[in-house]
Amino acid sequence: MKRESKFVRKPLGNFSPFRLPFVAAIFLVLFAFASQRQLIRQPKEARSGLKVIKVIDGDTVVLSDGRTVRYIGIDTPEFGQPFYEAAKNFNRNLVENKLVDLEFDVERYDHYGRLLAYVFVRDKSGRRIFVNGEMIRNGFARTYTKPPNVKYSDLFVKLQREAMASHRGLWSVYKPTRLAVVGNKRTKVFHRPNCSLVRKISHQNLVYFQNAEKALAEGFQPCRVCQP
Ligand SMILES: [Zn+2]
Repeated sequence: MKRESKFVRKPLGNFSPFRLPFVAAIFLVLFAFASQRQLIRQPKEARSGLKVIKVIDGDTVVLSDGRTVRYIGIDTPEFGQPFYEAAKNFNRNLVENKLVDLEFDVERYDHYGRLLAYVFVRDKSGRRIFVNGEMIRNGFARTYTKPPNVKYSDLFVKLQREAMASHRGLWSVYKPTRLAVVGNKRTKVFHRPNCSLVRKISHQNLVYFQNAEKALAEGFQPCRVCQP
């Protein structure tokens, strides 16, 4: 190693060659520590220069290296749901055939094996656009807070409030229910009070909202079973 040979060639002074194994051991420990830190930090590293070759829907794309990317922290309408095409087209206009930068959170893949990422792209004037955030801000996605991948969840909630207040995209047809709903602080999902899943929520994770709109404004997403 370059560093070590330099060290040995230095004038000895009061340096004893007998200390060399000791010094080497310190280097080894430092090196091991550094590489471990690297491993811990690795999931959050940024990757750049990948091209989006296909847009699947509002929150999923395919990269030029063949991997499928699922945007973190957002959920867009599924096929057959209102605004499915609109969300897909909006996403397509942002990223299709463009180079993107990826940023990661704690988990690198979801259980479908899709790469989980925050996606950034540059517009024509070179401005950096946060794709996940833009989808929410324009009302084509809901927040989808799924711990431990919560790096930008506060921002997403803020952007969703903005989209709801301006009745953008899917919020333009949203009819807020007057019914009280029950949230789970851990999963960030909210339910109708009579949903069977409510009984499974532990006491310390229960949170009550006056209505669905209030739960959405706090970044909770509706349960797919009881659809509050
Ligand atoms: Zn439910």
